[in-house]
Amino acid sequence: MSDGVLEVEYRKYFKDLLPEMALIMLAELRERGLLAEQIGGPENQESCLSEESIQEKLAELKGSKCPRCEKSGDIVGVYVKSAVSFITRVRVEEEEIICCRDCARDALWRASLVTAGAGWWSVPGIFVTPWVLGTNLIKYKSDFPGSDDRLRLIAISELTATEK
Ligand SMILES: [Zn+2]
Repeated sequence: MSDGVLEVEYRKYFKDLLPEMALIMLAELRERGLLAEQIGGPENQESCLSEESIQEKLAELKGSKCPRCEKSGDIVGVYVKSAVSFITRVRVEEEEIICCRDCARDALWRASLVTAGAGWWSVPGIFVTPWVLGTNLIKYKSDFPGSDDRLRLIAISELTATEK
């Protein structure tokens, strides 16, 4: 990929990318020295996408108000999975939620209840349901692994969005 193409792709698809893909792309952009110069503009190199401003935005995001319960601070980003079976098929949905730890646990709990009730009733559901429940449980029990990466991506996309 040429640098020009890469930059266009970055601008166009950044928000729709899977977090893993976006991280790879960011690393690639950083390596080619594009992040500061072409996306932020040379004069904004320091103020826009310096590590410092990203950290600042990240702290701001983490301390912001939970959209679900309005409590301030303790914000995490987490993917919540659920599975529902239909006769021969199973539909797995994944929702990204940004909210406080309590609400994130609550959402994981609800999605797991739905899955435990409605996930099993198809042949693929028999295999998919324990996997969905397992991934939700891991997030519930551990301290939301990967949350910082997700919030960091949001921080970066907000910083680049305001920079036009
Ligand atoms: Zn909340």
